[in-house]
Amino acid sequence: MMSKTHCVDINGPNRCEVLDMPARMTLIARIGPDVLRADADPERAWVRISRSKTPIGLLLMDQSVIAGIGNIYRSEILWRQKVSPEIPGNAICRETFDRLWADAVHLLRIGVKANSIITVDGVKKARSRYGERVNIFNKSHCPACASEIRRLEMASRRAFICDTCQPNVR
Ligand SMILES: [Zn+2]
Repeated sequence: MMSKTHCVDINGPNRCEVLDMPARMTLIARIGPDVLRADADPERAWVRISRSKTPIGLLLMDQSVIAGIGNIYRSEILWRQKVSPEIPGNAICRETFDRLWADAVHLLRIGVKANSIITVDGVKKARSRYGERVNIFNKSHCPACASEIRRLEMASRRAFICDTCQPNVR
């Protein structure tokens, strides 16, 4: 979508609509800190996560908690940081949250630059249709330990976990 002054490049949005200013402000107030913004305040996400009994795999997809993490990134970030998606938010320590946030920032910046989801360190975009390079999403075995990857449903979306690398410990 393009006008004389603005250009919007949307890739698979769940919703797309034009809002007036009051509606925009209401919406922004409802959204958690956006990992891609330099001025994002991770503290707001930490407050929500550290007080919630909801599993971290659901919280990371809740845009009112933290904005920007999609379904593939959820599984990939949790695997990279060795965190089970089934651990409740309030069992996550601050150090772990900081690692999750930092990895989300790191990976989403790579994603924007490459215009593709790349969560494997040190690789370029694949030659496939979307150019994605991922570790465990939709994979059968863990690239780190070769264990079988378990599939689960979280927020009605497929999630993936390596139970060896991501033990459910608190
Ligand atoms: Zn593993």
